[in-house]
Parts: sequence; C-alpha cells; structure tokens
Amino acid sequence: MNILIKDVNVLMGDYSVQQGNIAITDDKITAVGDVPAGFVADHTIDGRDRFAVPGMVNAHTHASMTLLRSYADDMELMDWLNNKIWPVEGKMVEKDIRIGAKLALLEMIKSGTTAYADMYGPYMESVAEETISAGIRGILARGAIGFAPSGRKTLEENVDLFKNYHGAGDGLISVLLGVHAPYTCPPDFCQYAAELSAANGINVHIHMSETQAEIKQITEQYGKRPFQYIEATGLFNRPSIAAHCVWLDDADMDMMLAKKITPVHNPGSNLKLASGIAPVKKLLEKGIKVALGTDGCSSNNNLDMLEEVRLAAMLHKAKELDPLAVPAAEALKMGTEYGAQALWLDKVGKIEAGWKADIVLYDLNRPEWCPRHNLVSLLVYSANSSSVDTVLCNGKVVMEKGEVKTMDQEKILFEANACAMDLVNR
Ligand SMILES: [Zn+2]
Repeated sequence: MNILIKDVNVLMGDYSVQQGNIAITDDKITAVGDVPAGFVADHTIDGRDRFAVPGMVNAHTHASMTLLRSYADDMELMDWLNNKIWPVEGKMVEKDIRIGAKLALLEMIKSGTTAYADMYGPYMESVAEETISAGIRGILARGAIGFAPSGRKTLEENVDLFKNYHGAGDGLISVLLGVHAPYTCPPDFCQYAAELSAANGINVHIHMSETQAEIKQITEQYGKRPFQYIEATGLFNRPSIAAHCVWLDDADMDMMLAKKITPVHNPGSNLKLASGIAPVKKLLEKGIKVALGTDGCSSNNNLDMLEEVRLAAMLHKAKELDPLAVPAAEALKMGTEYGAQALWLDKVGKIEAGWKADIVLYDLNRPEWCPRHNLVSLLVYSANSSSVDTVLCNGKVVMEKGEVKTMDQEKILFEANACAMDLVNR
C-alpha cells in the first residue's frame, strides 16, 4: 500500500519546517520532499494548509479510567485513591475495562496521539484487542499492587500478556511489566518483579516519587528514599520508565542517568492532585530525555497530549522564573520522539525516510493558526487539538478529514456513558 501526502508543511527531523510531499509504503515513510521516481500512490491525501507532525506519544496513562472522568475531583491523592478510585476499580469487569479503553482510544486518535503506555487491568487482553482494532500503538502493562493478596498472580498474568501480545497487531502492541509504586509494593514483591522481568526480557513501568508524602513514608519505612529503595530490590537493574518523578534529589537523578530510567512527566495530573512540579529543566540539562504523559482521566481529566506539551512548555518557565526553561520545540520533542524512545519504540517519533509512518496533520485554516510566522510555536502555544484533521499510524489512515475510520464515535459515547453510570451505581 502506497500513500502520498501531497504539498504539506512537514516538521522535519531537525525541526525545520519544509513544504513538500511524504511518501509512505506499508508501515514506513519512504521519502520526504520530492516524490520518488516511479512511486504510484494507492491513496493521496491533499496536504495543502496542513502541518504534518509526528504523532503524540502518551508515555503514561490508565486508559480505562476514562469511565471515572469527573467522578471524584479536588481531593488528596490517598483519600482519592482509598475512598473513591480503588473501591470502584475493584468492581470493574471485562466490559468496563474494554469500553473504557475504547473511549480512551477514540479520544486519543481525535487529539493526535498514535502511541500510549497504559498501566491498568485486569483484562488487558481486551485492551490489546481494542487497540489493534483502533489502529494505534499500545504499550501495555498490568498495574500490579504488591500488598494486594493477588499481587504476585497479577505479575504472572502480566508475563502471560507479554507472551501472548508482545509484537501483536503488526507490532502495534508491546508489553511492559507494571509495578504500581514504592508505597504499594513491598521489597520481596519488587524482587520477584525484577526476577520475572529479567527471566522474560520484559521492561518495567512504575510510578515513582510522586508526592512528598511518598518520600516521607518510604524513608520512614525503609530508611531510604524511593529511588534507593527500588534500586535495592534489583528492579532498577531492568530497563524502566518511571511516571511522575516530581520529588527528586541529585542522587535520584544520577541514578536515572546511570541506570537509564526514563522519567515520564505528567504536568496536568501533578497540578490537579497538587503533587508538585517536577524538576524538568534540571533533568533535561543533565541529558535525560523526559517523556510526557497525561496520567489517567480522573486526575487530568483528559487524554489530550497537546495540552501536556503546552503545560510542559509553560510550567517550568514560571517555576524557574526563566522564559527559556523549556522551549516550544523541546516540549514537542518530549511529547513525540522522547516518548517513543522512552517506550523502546524503534524509528518512531520523527518524519524521516525509514521511520514509521505515525503522522498527524493539523488543519491550518483556523484563526489560531494565523498568521503563520512559526508553525512549531503556533502548535505549542496557540493551537488546540480540535485542529487535528488526519491521523496515520503504522502507515494506515485511522482518521481522515476529521472522521475516525476505525471507530464508531456515536456508539462508543453512548456505551461508555451507560457503562460508567452502571459501574458507579453497582
Ligand atoms: Zn499513573
């Protein structure tokens, strides 16, 4: 299958913007600029007044939590988890996980996300199947809570998910081992997770150092800060992504560099739960390529990565009293290529020959895109994701001219609303 995006403004790999064509064969970009000699397109997309940007990579979320959007807001993290979120999650059945994931997938496609890292479950097999059907990349993990009686079984089910789905859907699906957080996972559990990770070659997805309360609790309990605690269990000998990383000291950051642990910054969630502001400027200065995520829909409350890109660009300017702290292009890289690297996605996150065709076209015929002095600046500081016009992932068109090709929006909204109301009243 050959696709040609014709006469489009392209965000090139070096972050210059050039007018040209993008030729795609199967899952890959084969040329950017001139159309290669002999290239015959099976499908042509008119790229005039469109801006082609790599698809957003949401490196940390809990997709099926869409069903809990607006269910519990303006609460302390532990009060929110213990008294609102975990009791409802305990009642979730396969249908809730599946329909919640479908709502998330629809929202992600419509806001220009082509890859997402999910930590949730049970029934992640259903999430994998829905993700393949929707046509975007899912980097899926069960979220295992170590102090739960079924914690070890959950890890073992995560290994089964890896064996059954890693690489499925023409490579759309990959699987990580989900270890919830230092404050929910005791040492022997983390050691077991490290053993399973090493024995099966599964990389790790964990929440780290989210709140000051977590630092206090872990330090009192184990005499170590969270990063030292998890390292002592052996888990950080495995390649890992660590969501949040709000409260870090220099030793934590040095460990992240040495052990290649990639932080996933979740500015919207950290603001809403009043967790704090991660030291992103310092992490970037140390050469750590910080990824971006939305976190779940009950702490954000949406899956719109362009909002996170803007927050990342804005928040650290105010925190550091430095308008140069995180420039627009750097924030956009955090939401695209750094996220793809963090999730071990090969050749994802740039529009260049030989890279995967994960591309979003933004419609520039809108007031917020006028005048066009600088398209990267307009995307990060002015536009919103309602200008997402066309989305390709792995060389397939999943949305074109505003219409999602792989999902039935009306049906999903109806089902998700009914399912969520039934869940909270169950
Ligand atoms: Zn999370």
